[in-house]
Amino acid sequence: MSKPLNVLFVTSEVEPFIKTGGLADVSASLPQTIKELGHEIRIAAPRYGSISERKFKIHDVIRLKEIGVPVGERVKMANVNSSFIANTKAKVQVYFIANKEFFGRHGIYVSPETKKDYADNDERFIFFSRSVLETLKRLGWKPDVIHCNDWQTGLIPAYVKTIYSNDPFYKNIKTVFTIHNLAYQGIFPASSFKKTGLPDSVFTPDGLEFYEKMNFMKAGLVYSDVITTVSEKYAEEIRTSAEYGCGLEGVIQKRRQHLHGIVNGIDYEIWNPQTDTVIPVRYDVHTIEGKVENKKALLKKFNLEFKEHIPVIGMISRLVDQKGLDLIEEISDEMLKTDVKFVLLGAGEKQYQDFFESLHKKHPSKVGVYFGYSEEIAHLIEAGSDMYLMPSKYEPCGLNQLYSLKYGTVPIVRATGGLEDTIVDADSAASGTGFKFKKYDAKELLKAIHRALKLYHDHGTWKKIMQNGMVQDFSWEASAKQYASLYRTLVK
Ligand code: ADP
Repeated sequence: MSKPLNVLFVTSEVEPFIKTGGLADVSASLPQTIKELGHEIRIAAPRYGSISERKFKIHDVIRLKEIGVPVGERVKMANVNSSFIANTKAKVQVYFIANKEFFGRHGIYVSPETKKDYADNDERFIFFSRSVLETLKRLGWKPDVIHCNDWQTGLIPAYVKTIYSNDPFYKNIKTVFTIHNLAYQGIFPASSFKKTGLPDSVFTPDGLEFYEKMNFMKAGLVYSDVITTVSEKYAEEIRTSAEYGCGLEGVIQKRRQHLHGIVNGIDYEIWNPQTDTVIPVRYDVHTIEGKVENKKALLKKFNLEFKEHIPVIGMISRLVDQKGLDLIEEISDEMLKTDVKFVLLGAGEKQYQDFFESLHKKHPSKVGVYFGYSEEIAHLIEAGSDMYLMPSKYEPCGLNQLYSLKYGTVPIVRATGGLEDTIVDADSAASGTGFKFKKYDAKELLKAIHRALKLYHDHGTWKKIMQNGMVQDFSWEASAKQYASLYRTLVK
């Protein structure tokens, strides 16, 4: 093998420390797999107040006490803490950037009290980005590549290309910027730009200005050496359509030579019905019958009556516009006319929570809901449901459809982004693994559900669809290799 690379993976969330969505899963699994491939990779993340010091044995990196980091006119102090994540094969060091004023609170991006984004999110992530760069030099550890993720880290490529470029330590560092969700861009008033310390010359429409505001995501897109996103279909959608590009499609189209779609994997040490310690009965593709005991347990958990042949449709989701919840709202009564049960685990916007709550009240024998965040119930839903619903408006990659495949829970999805790339429609191919619909339209969703419900009662065919899904391999290795060879092309 050629010389191992040094990589710093910068992220605003990482399992098992802190998670709001799929980014946290990726930020744990991808670095571990890259390490398994033989590279030296470390992670940097903010030290949020809700990360338990005791549980994760977080300690100070003594040498790095008190780094002064400029934010606007002021200098704020960063402390660097450390912990690690480990699977059975690899142990990856995590540096936490700590500052009580910015991160010593309970929310991550949004205040739990006001339900609004923190007013100082600009300063928090300016501080984080610069602290990460300062930390590296103090540490004397020079990565070949800094791999940045989503808007919270978008300024790092801009810093590397501008104010840090004259320093020999940073000069040859390459940056990769991965888009996990283009809809969240980190847009702030022009006045926020002053706090970055970046030269005025970058505040232009060719730089990180976005209609007279500043846009962190755009900084990542413009100044990184390479852009990636988490499926090939999403890579195409965000550069060719205003609907998916959210105003940045032009910028992305311009950089299309440097844009790569690399699908996420999943961690089969955590999501595997054969070894899952959370679910009541373990099973695999040869012992699918075991699934029915999980269905029993799932229905019990949601206070619904168990009948083996009544299909259960499950869903685990952030309750936000992206997830196609308005389509479900439109067809819910129609869907529930058939003999079916529906269980939902979700947290998010009140309007959707109210809707699912009222649906449960209206159909108490058919609909079960749990509002909040629960890994345990998530595993139970994957193991105990017959079908999994994911009618997303857009979906950069999506993880739950991949978990569902492994658990023999047949996904019903909208053919967008990663859902299009990872699911094969069962009505159009013998190798089918799920049901897809194209147009973002409630009637189309209902048709797909009806197609699934019809085939469900054809036991032989249904079993084949489940098996097709269960033998799919979306482990991280293939994707990690693609990232590693991309790093390699940059460092040549
Ligand atoms: P997104 O990142 O857009 O939320 P993904 O499908 O990529 O969507 O990833 C979502 C991740 O978050 C999955 O691991 C899913 O199981 C988890 N998740 C979402 N909502 C909840 C919840 N309420 N409780 C437990 N896990 C959840």
